[in-house]
Amino acid sequence: MKKIAVMTSGGDAPGMNAAIRAVVRYAVRNDIEVVGIQRGYAGLLDEDFIKMNFASVGGIMEKGGTILRSSRCPEFVRKETRKEAAAILSKHGIEGLVVIGGEGSLHGAMFLEEEQKVPVVGIPGTIDNDIAMTDMSIGVDTCLNTVVDAIQKLKDTASSHERAFIVEVMGRSSGYIATVAGLVTGAEAIVIPEIPVNYEALGNKILKERERGKINCIVVVAEGAASAYTVARHLEHRIGYETRITILGHIQRGGSPTAFDRLLASRMGVAAVEYLKRGQSFVMTALQGGKIVPVRFDEVLKQKKSLNMELVELTALLS
Ligand code: ADP
Repeated sequence: MKKIAVMTSGGDAPGMNAAIRAVVRYAVRNDIEVVGIQRGYAGLLDEDFIKMNFASVGGIMEKGGTILRSSRCPEFVRKETRKEAAAILSKHGIEGLVVIGGEGSLHGAMFLEEEQKVPVVGIPGTIDNDIAMTDMSIGVDTCLNTVVDAIQKLKDTASSHERAFIVEVMGRSSGYIATVAGLVTGAEAIVIPEIPVNYEALGNKILKERERGKINCIVVVAEGAASAYTVARHLEHRIGYETRITILGHIQRGGSPTAFDRLLASRMGVAAVEYLKRGQSFVMTALQGGKIVPVRFDEVLKQKKSLNMELVELTALLS
């Protein structure tokens, strides 16, 4: 393989730059030319390409977001559009593609190879940790640290004013961020899509904690389960006092990646190029039991990542 391209697509995640850096540098070291496709699939269709080299990815590892930028490209769900994309790649002599992104982006990557025969390797980059067959995706750890830091700050003010805080966190249809953040901040309760919420029991738990003398109360709500406003409305008349709502929003997607995410991204970036180099594609790089392994697109994407219920039990046990 003489020339490959790399892109970031869909929701951005901290650590994507570290992955781009690894792809570019490992490719260059193997005498493979690298083209950076800007703005994901939209940029591919617009031929928004830049030449990448060893120096062009210097100093980017610690940066949040993605230097190649990202986008949504709804027309990529159409087969004719993907055919056009394959023709553009071929016109530029690009023999392989690395797509860094979430579930949607990986679907696009899978179809591009399945129908158009473009060799593609995917790298899971999303804060939601909702991609199956990999223990972690790039960005999850940084996001968790941001959420934990924010909840810790809210706990300070919650204690001072003896208030209950309802904190809404991201995660799409996954309760992973809410569960782990709730566990490691000692939140009173979590509301996640994996478990139907019982407001009666939740209200009673908060009241009981208060009777025991606990002066602050944090309830972490996953966006996929309910909105913080809904949870507050259900709880306030049960507990008899006002709650405060915080929706953490997009701060969860930003920030300098943690050491864990930089390491994961570096390992996955190198693995992606290595797979292409040895003629292996139609796979995603995955972290399994500490090792980076290739897993087939169709295997990954037919599954929904399930939440480890031991974490949920631990949260309940220790709060
Ligand atoms: P993420 O990759 O973070 O999950 P999206 O779900 O928005 O983000 O997907 C990003 C892009 O991937 C979409 O804008 C579209 O271009 C492409 N994509 C998503 N789903 C599909 C699909 N089923 N088929 C082809 N392309 C898709």
